[in-house]
Amino acid sequence: MTGENKHFRSAAPYSGEGLRRSVVAKKSLGQNFLVDDNIARKIVRSACIEKDDFVVEIGPGKGALTRFLLPTGARIEAIEKDTALFRLLREDFTESERLSFVNGDFLDYEFPAGHSLVKILGNIPYNLTSRIVSKIVDERQYVDSAVLMVQDEVAVRLAAGAGTKDYGSISVRLNLVADVTKLFLVSPSCFRPRPKVNSRVIKIVFRTREGIEREDEFVDFVKRAFGMRRKMFRHFVAHYYGKDSIDLLEEKYRTSRIETMAPEEIYRLFSILEHNVRSI
Ligand code: SAH
Repeated sequence: MTGENKHFRSAAPYSGEGLRRSVVAKKSLGQNFLVDDNIARKIVRSACIEKDDFVVEIGPGKGALTRFLLPTGARIEAIEKDTALFRLLREDFTESERLSFVNGDFLDYEFPAGHSLVKILGNIPYNLTSRIVSKIVDERQYVDSAVLMVQDEVAVRLAAGAGTKDYGSISVRLNLVADVTKLFLVSPSCFRPRPKVNSRVIKIVFRTREGIEREDEFVDFVKRAFGMRRKMFRHFVAHYYGKDSIDLLEEKYRTSRIETMAPEEIYRLFSILEHNVRSI
């Protein structure tokens, strides 16, 4: 123990094996525990947390990040799905008005209303990345920013811009409302057990928290359009809205593909098409 915070009860130094050797990592819950303190510090620093912030940590595990969150002085709520880990966390840390653990699924988590915007932090289960990111985007009215450790390959997709091979529906959805920055790479050797893939920390900062008109329909539209990404956009439009709607597209969009269009352009075209269809 480095003595960095008094809320952390264990007297034993933080070993690379994690605090409890008896806890077997559950693959189904995406458990790869971070065992590199320098990386943990760097992740917490990237979140720019201040004393008055409300931080939501996704999947604290054995507390690798939580330990370094405490000295920020912020209010921390950490959501852990694994009941065995949740119990250990409550033993290892002292809960207070500044720190609480919730035994639950982040996907069902209700963000605190009436608070300032929350800062989200997490080394998240990789199998849930899209669902976690979608939830954060859906509920961005409560969120300032999110610093997440994800699979490197997924980080590239989340941050991808138009015209790149990694650009897809999730890139459009996210980049329409947020700035996504790829921060640093984290090698498998920083975890126990070691994941098979490289990881990367990303930061999502929302530019706007307002809902956009017909957002659910837009999400569906974008998913389906990327399902036909190799075809020209007009084919998708004909298929989705009917042949006549192609006339609504400006000339330049008749021969282009969705994968070359910026998120704002895609949304603009969607609005035009939707308004027209609804006014028939
Ligand atoms: N943050 C810790 C643990 C990372 S492993 C560290 O860096 O060491 C991912 C963690 O997320 C595990 O503790 C796992 O039990 C937890 N988890 C998995 N699914 C979850 C969910 N749906 N909601 C909240 N926590 C979840």
